[in-house]
Amino acid sequence: MRILISADMEGATGVTCPEDVLPGGPGWERMRPVFTGDVNAVVGGLFDGGARSVLVNEAHWTMRNLLLERLDERAEMLTGRHKDLSMMEGVQHGDVDGVVFLGYHAGAGSEGVLAHTYLANTVTGVWLDGVRASEGRLNAAVAAEFGVPVIMVTGDDRTVEDADGYAPEAIGVAVKDCVSRYAAVCRAPERTAADLSRAASLAALLAVRREPVVAAHRVEVEFDADHLAQAATVVPGVERCGERRIGYDSATMYAAIRCFKAVTTIASQAMEEQYG
Ligand SMILES: [Zn+2]
Repeated sequence: MRILISADMEGATGVTCPEDVLPGGPGWERMRPVFTGDVNAVVGGLFDGGARSVLVNEAHWTMRNLLLERLDERAEMLTGRHKDLSMMEGVQHGDVDGVVFLGYHAGAGSEGVLAHTYLANTVTGVWLDGVRASEGRLNAAVAAEFGVPVIMVTGDDRTVEDADGYAPEAIGVAVKDCVSRYAAVCRAPERTAADLSRAASLAALLAVRREPVVAAHRVEVEFDADHLAQAATVVPGVERCGERRIGYDSATMYAAIRCFKAVTTIASQAMEEQYG
């Protein structure tokens, strides 16, 4: 049994503010071992539950956050960015039986610690086939297309609530309870490690490949300024469908998530430091 862990950082134990997750700063340096501890707790639980191999795909920012020198030696880690499937890289090769969304967070426009979808502030909402979508919902649709079930989701309590909507069978573990976008009631790493490890050993039992669900999808993205919607239409197939909103149709989720990456990358380059 092979498990993929897609490891984002906003939903890790103790993380509550931008400084905790912005690469290079002291807050981020402090949280790196804590984040790595969450990963190790899940890796340990998965092996206890019968996993034979675990690939950890770094999914946050520069995708260089976890400390390899502290990683459980039974796991492997995919570090660095520019990957075909970004946060979901590794799910597409037909050898993964289940995926864990670790350190995930609520989507743009929703309540949750550091809630966003891809871009920190610029994207104010994303809709997948008419349903408001977090990164978790988008990535679950990618996993489904490759026949891989989401077996576990970790983050704040809002993240776990969100996961109930897109992966109801997955085991959710809240490592903190949201008070506001930048505040949470946090639990100590020893405590969350025990919770994560226990849940992961049960989640491993859910790792059974399924029939792939390949379908066409429509994605709409709303920005906080109209020039960003205009800029995003440079991507082939992307059309304006509102003042600050773009939309596109894709034949597969693989194509949809790659187009989403292109749209958000273009939008992030269409901002000036002042005036956004
Ligand atoms: Zn992130």
